[in-house]
Amino acid sequence: MFKRKIKQINNLLIKKYGIPPRSKTPPDPVDMIIATILSQNTNDKNSYKAFQNLKERFKSWGEVAKLTPSQIEKQIKIAGLGKQKSKAIKNLLSTLLKENGRISFKYLDKLKDEEILYELTSFPGVGLKTASCVLLFSLRKNFCPVDTHVHRTTNRIGIVKTSSPNKTFEILNKDLPEGIAHQFHTNLIRLGREICRPAKPACNICPLLKVCNYPHKNLLGNNNYKVNDFLLLDSIK
Ligand code: SF4
Repeated sequence: MFKRKIKQINNLLIKKYGIPPRSKTPPDPVDMIIATILSQNTNDKNSYKAFQNLKERFKSWGEVAKLTPSQIEKQIKIAGLGKQKSKAIKNLLSTLLKENGRISFKYLDKLKDEEILYELTSFPGVGLKTASCVLLFSLRKNFCPVDTHVHRTTNRIGIVKTSSPNKTFEILNKDLPEGIAHQFHTNLIRLGREICRPAKPACNICPLLKVCNYPHKNLLGNNNYKVNDFLLLDSIK
C-alpha cells in the first residue's frame, strides 16, 4: 500500500516535471558533504557560490584544511552561518587527514548503508540529511534525503505523519521502491518550492491535488508561482 502510493505520487510528479537529469559521473563524497554543509539554512544559489569560492581559490581540499576556521569563514560568507559551517568544514577535513592520512571517503566503500550514515553523522555539523545526500548523490544508493520541502510535502500528501524530518526520513526509506530515490527527492523539492509552499500552497495547479490528503488545501491559488529548478547537489561535478 505504502509502496503503491509512493509510486503513484512519483509518476504524477514525473508527468509534471519529467525525470530530473543526473550527472554521468557521481560527485566525490568530500565535495558532496561540503556542498551540503554549505547548503544548510540558505538557498542553493548562495551555497553554490560559496562552494565555488573554495573550489576555485584553492587547489585541493588539503589546502583548505590548512586554513583557520575564520579564513574559511571569509570564503563562504555568502552562504550564511559562516562560523558554524567553517568550523564543521575545518573539523571534517582535519579529521579525515588525521585518521586516514588523506582527504578521502574511499573507506566508506567497505561499509553497509546504515554504517555509512552512522559514520558520516559522527562528524560535528553533519546531520542525517547531509549524510543521506552523500548516499544518494555520490554513492548512488536508493535513499531519499529529507529536507524541509520533502518533510512538508510528504506530510501534507499523507504519505507520512511525522513531526520531524528525521522521523520522515526513517519511515520514507524503510520501504522506498527501488530506483526512484533521486527522481522522487528532486521532484518533491521542486513541488515544495514552486507549488506546495509553506504558506498558501497553490493547490489549484498541483499535480497531486486528487491524491493529496491535506485538509487545508488552498484552491484559490497563489500568484507567486515561479520556476525554481536550480538544484545545488545536482550541480556539483
Ligand atoms: S494539493 Fe496542495 S497541499 Fe497537497 S501537495 Fe498539492 S499543493 Fe501541497
